Order: sequence, then C-alpha cells, then structure tokens
Amino acid sequence: MSYNSNTRTRSFTKRGARASHQSFGPKRSGGRRGGGVAHGQYIDPQKFIRKATATENPEYIAQHKFSDFQAHDVIKANLTSKGYVTPSPIQDQTIPVGLLGKDIIGIANTGTGKTAAFLVPVLHKLMSSPRSRALIVAPTRELAQQIEDECRSIGKGSGLFGTLLIGGTSMGPQLRDLRSNPNIIIGTPGRIKDHMERNTLRLDTFDTVVLDEVDRMLDMGFIDDIRIILGKLATPRQSFFFSATLEPKISQLIETFSNQPLLVSTKTSDTSENVNQDVVHYASSVDKLDKLHDVLISDVAQKTIVFEETQRGAERLSKELTARGFSADAIHGGKTQGQRQRALKSFKTNQINILVATDVAARGIDVVDITHVINYSIPKTYQDYTHRIGRAGRAGRAGQALTFVPR
Ligand code: AMP
Repeated sequence: MSYNSNTRTRSFTKRGARASHQSFGPKRSGGRRGGGVAHGQYIDPQKFIRKATATENPEYIAQHKFSDFQAHDVIKANLTSKGYVTPSPIQDQTIPVGLLGKDIIGIANTGTGKTAAFLVPVLHKLMSSPRSRALIVAPTRELAQQIEDECRSIGKGSGLFGTLLIGGTSMGPQLRDLRSNPNIIIGTPGRIKDHMERNTLRLDTFDTVVLDEVDRMLDMGFIDDIRIILGKLATPRQSFFFSATLEPKISQLIETFSNQPLLVSTKTSDTSENVNQDVVHYASSVDKLDKLHDVLISDVAQKTIVFEETQRGAERLSKELTARGFSADAIHGGKTQGQRQRALKSFKTNQINILVATDVAARGIDVVDITHVINYSIPKTYQDYTHRIGRAGRAGRAGQALTFVPR
C-alpha cells in the first residue's frame, strides 16, 4: 500500500486463506477435584487469587510536545489529526533519540504508545532518505496488522510505499508489492523468512530495523528466524528493539545486533500487579455456564476476553453466549485470518464486548481497555496464566481476572 492520503486501502484478507491450526491436547476431563489442572502442570488455585497492588502509574510529565520533534511536518500533522497531543513516556524519551539515528532498546508494556515511538523516527528517516528501507518485525499477524494501520495513518501523504508480509494470506499481492521495492516492510518472522528463501526479498538494502515485542517472539520460538533475518540486513543500520522484559536471552540478542543502543525503560510494574485476581467455583458444566453468565451481566464486566482451551470450545462458547443475548465473537486458529481480524476489530471498536479466545490466537491481541480476563478453562502453565491476565490492566488501568475451577 502507499501511504498517500487518497490511496485505496488494500485488504490483505480477501482470499481467506486458512490460518495455521494450533494443536491442543484432548479436552480436559475434570481433573483433580478443586485443583487447577489442565493438560500441563498442576497449578495451585491459590495462585489465581491475588489483590491488585498497583492501579495507577505515577504521574509522568512529558519533556516534549510533538511539535518540538524535528520530524517532517506531514508526520506531525498526522499525529495531530490522530488526536495525539502529549507524547507518552516511551515516545517522549525515544523519539528525539531515534530521530538522531541512534539505536534504541525500549522496555515498555504493550499499550504504552510504543508503536508511534518507533514509527515517527522510522517514517521521518524514510522520507528524508529515499534509498533507506525499513523492516518492522512483529511476533503475530494481528500485531503486524496493527502496526501497519498505525503506519498508514502516521505516514499518510508521505509518498512512502509499504507492504505487509504475514502468513494466512495469499502470496500474490505480497509478491507484486515486493517487486515495487517498498520503502517499508512490516511482517511476521515466518513469512519474511519464506520470502527470503524464495529470493523474493533481499534485505541487504534495509538500513533500519524494528523488532517489536521481542520477548513474545522468543517465547514463540522465533529466535533462530530472528537471527537469520537480522544477519542479512545492511550495515551500518539503525535498530529499535522493544520488549516488555530484558531477560538474558533478549539482552544477548540485542547486544549482538545493536550499536551502542540507548536503553529506555518506562515500565513501572508488571502488568499483572494491576489486576485483581480471583477464582469462581463451579459444580457442573451447566453451573459453569450459569456462573459465567452472572459474571458477564454484572455491570463491571465491560470488555471481557474469555479463554477456552480448544478451537471447538471457543467457537461453541461464543455461539452459546450470542444465543443468550451477549455480543460475543470468537478468535482462534480455526478461523481465517479475515474472520480473526473482523472479530478483533469489532472487539476493539466496542461492537462486541466479549471475545472468546484460545491462547495462541490471543497472543496477538493488543486491546488497551480490556477490563476482564476470564479463564473459563484453566491455563496449561502458570506462564500461560500470566500471559492471559496481562491482557487486562494495560497502561496502568485496573483489571480483573477470574479463573473457573471445579468445586
Ligand atoms: P500502542 O502501545 O502503540 O499500541 O498504543 C496504544 C494506544 O494508544 C493506541 O490506541 C494508540 O493509538 C494510542 N496512542 C499512542 N500514542 C498516543 C498519544 N501520544 N496520545 C494519545 N493516544 C496515543
């Protein structure tokens, strides 16, 4: 697509190719009485109960206004029309340095405005030097798509041309876009590597790279792909790494592939500290559904994500909730990329307020105002649990997590 104002938006989902299937074990069959058992580790249900300890971020006073930044006027005008008045902490601290061409490591939770934090310097650089090329890598298709949307609005009228390389969509339009030598490529590691192997994408002219949510990429097993991709880029180059954590594996990777980066951390707490966590006991499957119904009609449950273990379970539950009059939809690997995107969009724009999801499909969900996470099925591991409940309580907001456990 081109980021000119009157260019038609190209849909990447029309052909409805199937998204890859996730494999889960057979359905949970009761488990230990009263215990947190899924296929995986036993989790003591006590671990699902915890009061939120931090609900507010300390007041941050921005040092800059967007108008202070030495970025092209087109970009600044687009930020204004998006309603961005004050830079968020990560934007305030990284944009001026990014505009100077320096490498950046940003440690920030999702929902903190990190997309614009890297897009402003990247788009400015691409506009200033027509030979520059930028590659933005995200762990999931949904996140790549969200970055692309933000890129299109911040880069409107810039004359830049970009393409989205994600799986689950047909190759044809991507190949056509690649032949036009796009200024910017946004994609997921698998599809980017696919194009590299087919020789339809050469990265040796890409002098700018962004790795978003590096921690999730590593969690999802993309480390080797990432190393291969980074190894093929131009040198010297400017690199941006964003991650919620900076564990040793991540800092090793960054150390290898960066040049005197500036480390900016705006993370004030683990997201889950903002989340009140509790359990709901149920006696039978009928009782379980009734209890869920009760939670969902309580007026505090405004925007809820419900986790189910299997694709089939998620689909069935979303249909059941819709039949009961709730506005719900499901997101799972058995749906096409287009269906997943539509469900996510309705959820983001409040056309529906309940999204039933499987763990894998939920990895790409970046919706800042989720109030409730409901673990209708018990997560397989405690790490999955933390990932799930991290969907609520974003950007310092308070959230609620409820885990259903058999009595
Ligand atoms: P992100 O963390 O980049 O996904 O951004 C989270 C949400 O905050 C998105 O809906 C952005 O559109 C919005 N956002 C980002 N920066 C700003 C800003 N400076 N002012 C207002 N909203 C913003």
